[in-house]
Parts: sequence; structure tokens; C-alpha cells
Amino acid sequence: MSSIQAVAESYKVFNPRAYLQNNYVPPRADFSSEDSVMCWKLRRLHEACAKGEIKGHTLVDIGSGPTIYQLLSAFEHFQEVIMTDYLEINRQELKMWLNNEPGVFDWSPYFEYVCKLEGKGESWKEKQKRLRECVSRVIPVDIHQSSPLGREVASGSIDCLVSSFCLEACSPSLVAFHKALENVVGLLKPQGHFLWIGALEESYYLAGEARLSVLPVTEDMVKKALSKAKCVVREFSTYSMTPSMKVGVDDVSGIFFAWAQKDAAK
Ligand code: SAM
Repeated sequence: MSSIQAVAESYKVFNPRAYLQNNYVPPRADFSSEDSVMCWKLRRLHEACAKGEIKGHTLVDIGSGPTIYQLLSAFEHFQEVIMTDYLEINRQELKMWLNNEPGVFDWSPYFEYVCKLEGKGESWKEKQKRLRECVSRVIPVDIHQSSPLGREVASGSIDCLVSSFCLEACSPSLVAFHKALENVVGLLKPQGHFLWIGALEESYYLAGEARLSVLPVTEDMVKKALSKAKCVVREFSTYSMTPSMKVGVDDVSGIFFAWAQKDAAK
């Protein structure tokens, strides 16, 4: 197993545009098919957020990469959203989208799908405008530091975290994965919520020239890690990659969705 430094080295050639093309267009994001993995992820997030318990002042997305879909349901219940990534190139991509610069990735089908799930009759453009207004900052993160957001965000100060495909994709070992989860959960207030999506039994993924090693985790490993980090699992579900979702850009076998809540006493 490689070290944290080796993981960081491998991310130097991460290509956000190739990553988006590999994962965020059909067939993986085919909104005409409810079986597509993206519809599943957006439904899980929508259903958890629609329960009305997940709310507060600040929502932080850990390891946003160049994507915003993971926030489409949750941001509605917070006054401020902070997006984060380890790589400047990804933070740049997000800032370009926030500023609506020419040539940015088109997330409109995602907004349309979530507007339909919410059933409020809101136009996707209106929702997009509100998300852009709600994101206050795009800042660096390193999940391997005890304070992953440095001095910008104090530990124990956050109401809710979202994270998708980050912890297992940047941890060289199970020990590092546990520690990273502990670091991330440390940002939450007691009883803060964590909406976590990740890959099951994946060993690598591609993003242009980059071939990123992933820690292959099982459902059981994820649940044990949450318990070790003093989090209570409120909901847990999995999706098995169907043959049509296997497009040769990784070896992921499934996806997990967890809604967890930090222990009151921690
Ligand atoms: N959240 C996005 C998604 O759902 O597609 C991107 C996930 S991508 C597989 C993994 C992300 O982790 C990349 O954006 C990468 O820059 C980021 N990353 C790499 N090393 C990291 C670290 N030490 N701490 C936090 N994030 C890191």
C-alpha cells in the first residue's frame, strides 16, 4: 500500500474535465433511466433531506472535486455552504461554475431532476441561481490533517457535512481511512449530520492521465469506521453497478449512501 505522500503525488495529474466526462454524462448520469447510478444517488440525498431533520447554519462539502450535484438537496436547508478540495485545479473549476463562466460543465439535467423530486414547481434556473448564491467559499482541504480545513473552519463548528467519493479515494490504508474519517467528523458539532456517498470494492479510477488508487472498502468496513468515529448510522443503502454502468473508467462494484449523525457526547 502506498503512503499519503504517494496518493498526493498521483493527484498531481488529476484532470477534472476527464473525470466529469467519465462519470457525469450518460450512461452513469442518464436521467431518462431511473436505474442509472446518478438518479439513485440524487434520490437518496433528496429522501434524507426531505425528512426535515437535516438543517442548520453551515454545510461543508468535503473533497468536492469539480462537482456540485452532491449539494442539490442539502443546500436548501442551510444559510451557508462551503465547498472544498485538495487540488487548486478543482477549486478553480468550481469557481468558474459559481461565476457562470463560458464553457463550464452543464449541470442543468441534475437541477431539473432534483426540482422534479422536490415537486415544488421551481424552475431549475432559479435553483441553480440560489445554489450559486449560497456557496460562500471554495477552500483547500486535506482529510489527513487533524484540522482538515486549517484555521478557516474550527473543529466542532459545523452543522452538516456532505462528502462523495473522497475518503476511500485518497486513503492509502484502512488506518488512514479511519483517521481521515475521524478528522472529518471532528469538524461537526455534537449531533451534526453527515451525508456520505462512496465507492464499494473499488481499487482504482481514471481521470485523464491520472490513475488513482482507491482503498477497496465493503459495507461492513464503512459501518465499522462510522461506529469507530462515534457516529450513529441513521440510514444506509447500497447500489450495485449494473453492466451498463461499467464503462471502463474504474473497477467500482457498488456505491454506498450513509446518513450518519455524530454522537451527542463527542
Ligand atoms: N466529490 C466529487 C465527486 O463526487 O465526484 C469528487 C470525488 S474525487 C473521486 C476525489 C477528490 O478528492 C478529488 O477531487 C481530489 O482532489 C480530492 N482529494 C485528493 N486528496 C485529498 C485529500 N488529502 N484531502 C481531501 N481531498 C482530497
